Parts: sequence; structure tokens; C-alpha cells
Amino acid sequence: MKTILNSSIIVLFFSLTACSQTPAPAVKNPTASSKEDWKKVLTPEQYAVTCEGSTERAFTGKYWNNHEDGMYKCVRCGYQLFSSETKYDSGSGWPSFYDVVPGSKVSKSTDNEIGYPRTEVKCAKCGAHLGHVFEDGPNPTGLRYCINSAALDFEKK
Ligand code: FE
Repeated sequence: MKTILNSSIIVLFFSLTACSQTPAPAVKNPTASSKEDWKKVLTPEQYAVTCEGSTERAFTGKYWNNHEDGMYKCVRCGYQLFSSETKYDSGSGWPSFYDVVPGSKVSKSTDNEIGYPRTEVKCAKCGAHLGHVFEDGPNPTGLRYCINSAALDFEKK
């Protein structure tokens, strides 16, 4: 009995932790589990970027030149990813950040799609492709998260 109670407390703790990082709004489809599901709820560009790993053309996305205060969330699941506080003008034509929101996570892996290794960045919650991270960013991290606007939803503060 005591073991069951302890297990319940642990499960409850992790559930609350997960929920606190997941804002309710901006969820396109909480039940989507396949590419076909996502195709129904995303725009063609959002689908190409988040499901197929494509890259929007530089200086064409809706957030590369956005200077408003607020939060950038995953366009698919609403997970908080990047804050305007860590956004900076990299000159690349894509929204650029030097860090992820504290407490949030992205998953990283190496891809060789354009002939040399790059570190791909995905939403840790739903697996959406977001962009890449490079080690030529500003202090304090030295990182440049180069993210597609099409993978993000901006919520103004
Ligand atoms: Fe996501």
C-alpha cells in the first residue's frame, strides 16, 4: 500500500511538472500523432518545416524582424520555447535566439542534409523540427538558435 501511495505521488509530481511547462492555448491538435494528422491542421509551410525538416527562405518568415516582447511557442503543441529576451539580430534572416526558455527543453541531433554536420533542433515535447543551433552566437551562451518562423507561434506579452 505504501509503495502504491509513493508511486502515485511521484506520478502526480511529474504530471504537474509537465503541465506547468505546457500552456493550454495555441495547441493545433493535441491528438495528432502522425504526419497525416498534422497535414490536416497545419499550413503547407508549417507542415513542410515541422514535419519534413525544410527551411523557409531567409528574410521571408513573419518573426525574423519581430521586436515585440513576448513568448515564442511551438506552432504544433504550444510548448514555450524561446523568449523575446534572448532574441537578437543575427543578420541571418531567421529568428535567432541565444538560449531556450528556462525550464523548457529542445532535443538536438546531428544532420548531414547539406553535406556537412549541423545540429538540428526539435521541440522536446512533440518532435517538431524547429531549425538548427550553431556555436557562433553572442554571450552568455555563445549559441545561435536559428529557428524557422513557420515552426513558431508568437504570444505578445
Ligand atoms: Fe511542439
